[in-house]
Amino acid sequence: MKASQIIKQDNAYILGTYARNPVAIVSGQGARALDADGKDYIDFTSGIGVNSLGFAHPAWVAAVSKQAAALAHISNLFYTGPAAELAQKLCEKTGLSKVFFCNSGTEANECAIKAARKYSFDKYGKGRNRIMTFYGSFHGRTLAALTATGQEKFHKYFDPFPAGFVYAKAEKEDFLQKAQKDVCAVMLETIQGEGGVVPLAPEFLQFVESYCKENDVLLILDEVQTGVGRTGALYSYQALGLSPDIVTSAKGLGGGLPIGAVLFAEKCADSLGKGDHGSTFGGNPVAAAGALAVLEQMTDEFLREVAEKGAVLREKLLSMPKVVDVSGKGLMLGVTLDGLTPAEAVAKGIENGVLCLTAGNKLRLLPPLAISMEEISEGAERLAKALA
Ligand SMILES: *Cc1c(COP(=O)(O)O)cnc(C)c1O
Repeated sequence: MKASQIIKQDNAYILGTYARNPVAIVSGQGARALDADGKDYIDFTSGIGVNSLGFAHPAWVAAVSKQAAALAHISNLFYTGPAAELAQKLCEKTGLSKVFFCNSGTEANECAIKAARKYSFDKYGKGRNRIMTFYGSFHGRTLAALTATGQEKFHKYFDPFPAGFVYAKAEKEDFLQKAQKDVCAVMLETIQGEGGVVPLAPEFLQFVESYCKENDVLLILDEVQTGVGRTGALYSYQALGLSPDIVTSAKGLGGGLPIGAVLFAEKCADSLGKGDHGSTFGGNPVAAAGALAVLEQMTDEFLREVAEKGAVLREKLLSMPKVVDVSGKGLMLGVTLDGLTPAEAVAKGIENGVLCLTAGNKLRLLPPLAISMEEISEGAERLAKALA
């Protein structure tokens, strides 16, 4: 089918919740995507941080295909190998103790919120249940995660919201003012992704961690975007020297298939027990096999290369027309432009054969972590032309 036909059909039958680019992608290889009319693009989006290994990575394709041919699904009423193996790998690589599997970032955060409240209930009884989050954050679209999201623009129309949330600015004074007695957990992104690739200051993160430890408030890190190698560490907190109680992961974990994971430190690993939580597809064998193939690639050398590639791309960006500043870490970059809106830059990029994202008031780049230096150069050349 031609792109114009696909677009027409989509617009006729799919809910109009996305501001889609007028492009229909049909296939890809590495960091190169092909559209339905045969045009190629260098992909600086990785499907919003999902395709960690790029398109059609041979080891990922083999793992997923093999698992699909053997067992695609059976339900959590039975044990399956890939999920168990994946959970062990995640625990070994993070030092955390146990994992709950689900299908998306928002679902992972819902689980984290429930677990934090249960932890607090078990220890302190009813009423100590408030979740503290930060302005500019993004935690997902389901109602509790949406409430946790500290951006008004996502809240319009959807009230009433669940009770038990409070927002703070990412600074000591406001944090302490908002940290009421009934707070049971603080949830944050080390780099706010959808909010505009805004890193929280490492000293502030240390301060929050100390506060949480001293007050037995659980520290939940939403690593849905920053996780799985994106910033050059497997999880961004590892490079920051933080020790969270709960870590949520999704996006890049499955390498292209839907999977979410909630990792628990020993302290709260048993807060959710039988019947307290569940998800039909959670730990799906095919998704888990894909995630195992992704983790297999995440060697120290691979992660070092992510940092190097990020540094190279950042330098190239800083020399491009209209680029004022670049934020972020590793291959999670936010570009401040002068004289062009992020949306205009994305459209110009498409004309010139490079796919980019926006976040807040910035152009956002999340290339596949396995992108080659050649692909970075080619994409950067196309982007420079687009911005000129
Ligand atoms: C994308 C994102 C989510 C939501 O993930 P979904 O899989 O879309 O539900 C949550 N938190 C952060 C930090 C994200 O970037």
